[in-house]
Amino acid sequence: MTRIAVIGAGITGVTTASSLMDRGYEVTLFDRNRYAAMQTSFANGGQLSASNAETWNRWSTVFKGMKWMMTRGAPLLVNPKPSWHKYSWMAEFVASIPQYRANTVETTRMAIAARGLLREKAERHGFDFDCEDRGILHIYTNKAEFDHATEVNKLLAEGGLDRRAVAPDEVRQIEPALSGDFYGGYYTESDFTGDIHRYTTGLAKSIERGGAVLRFGTDVAALNVDQNEVRLTWSRNNESQTETFDAIVVCAGVESRAIAARLGDRVNVYPVKGYSITVRLDDEESQRAAPWISLLDDEAKVVTSRLGKDRFRIAGTAEFNGCNLDIRDDRIRPLVKWCERFFPSVSTEHAIPWAGLRPMMPNMMPKVGQGVRDRVFYNTGHGHLGWTLSAVTAEMVAETVAKSRTVNGSNGASVGAPATLRAQEAM
Ligand SMILES: Cc1cc2nc3c(=O)[nH]c(=O)nc-3n(C[C@H](O)[C@H](O)[C@H](O)COP(=O)(O)OP(=O)(O)OC[C@H]3O[C@@H](n4cnc5c(N)ncnc54)[C@H](O)[C@@H]3O)c2cc1C
Repeated sequence: MTRIAVIGAGITGVTTASSLMDRGYEVTLFDRNRYAAMQTSFANGGQLSASNAETWNRWSTVFKGMKWMMTRGAPLLVNPKPSWHKYSWMAEFVASIPQYRANTVETTRMAIAARGLLREKAERHGFDFDCEDRGILHIYTNKAEFDHATEVNKLLAEGGLDRRAVAPDEVRQIEPALSGDFYGGYYTESDFTGDIHRYTTGLAKSIERGGAVLRFGTDVAALNVDQNEVRLTWSRNNESQTETFDAIVVCAGVESRAIAARLGDRVNVYPVKGYSITVRLDDEESQRAAPWISLLDDEAKVVTSRLGKDRFRIAGTAEFNGCNLDIRDDRIRPLVKWCERFFPSVSTEHAIPWAGLRPMMPNMMPKVGQGVRDRVFYNTGHGHLGWTLSAVTAEMVAETVAKSRTVNGSNGASVGAPATLRAQEAM
């Protein structure tokens, strides 16, 4: 049987492992943490949002970013300390501006395909992930942001998404808990939310029952690839061991860049830090006063999701500060203030802060496909949409593996792949 190693047990690694197993492969899943979903897939915004498929590669983002760099508490923070990785990534981000339209349309298509696949996996594997199927409402307090959303809507519609404009009255009808004045909104009924950590750990347990080997608490330290096999050396508690596989899939989040470099590939992932707070809705009044509809405030760059009766997640901000996971009070405070502004009766006494690093490519398209070496594959770099896109890119990479002659000896069997979608890029 063909043996495949998957590096990383975040949402992309676990969904990839599951899609490979669906095709009959023997999978070993590695993670340096003792459990699945302990890094960026731990406490994100929770949105499965085709309506947030717009890529950020626009001149207006660049100008707004420059303004925000001078503003305390703004959604963007850049550590000005010189770093080749940071500034070269930013140069590539600007160079990708001409692809803004095409990449936004393509991301929308992928996100729509992913939503069905994600639900299907959860149903088939039989676990709960606090899914709230109530749509996502984008809210706007000024005309300029609303007008931009109207422009974006044309691209989302081209990608196949049905998202409709709503007047201020309807904003309040859709989410009666919201307080404040709005210019308008956009509502996407087909989007939904869920707890990424519950999903990833639920799926990891299910694939383990199905025969996957979970090597958690192990650090993949060395990789050697030749014509016949991949030799992977891992270490745990000062002991190391080497195992051989027919192929590997790299799903290592922000570490994917360093691993790819060792394998002769360039995967220019930058760690774009974000924060969340999980507001504990301990009392009945807070439970009543918190929204059930998922919100996206485009101006503040804040997303929200209700995770069951007693948790309300608020996430946002982008920080360019390398692989730094410090939780800064001045970045958490705006999220708490946002909650108090729009939901004044929700108690923020117990708001659990968290920081994570989005593995982001400069053109904002995930790296999905084969590396320069035949036995090496990638499914990584999903940036701000890793939860949304995970189920579809897992299918795409598993399908690429199945079609690879080197791994299978002959062309492998393929099951229902979304062959029309494009995320693979030449390495
Ligand atoms: C604040 C915030 C809000 C977000 N909100 C949303 C949202 O609402 N919707 C959405 O779609 N996306 C959202 N995202 C993005 C999404 O969370 C990420 O894209 C996704 O979690 C990335 O998953 P991953 O599997 O690629 O990476 P990770 O979850 O980071 O997993 C990578 C794993 O690889 C392991 N690893 C790395 N190197 C090695 C090694 N050498 N050996 C062993 N193991 C290794 C790590 O330990 C880690 O567990 C948000 C992100 C943030 C930060």
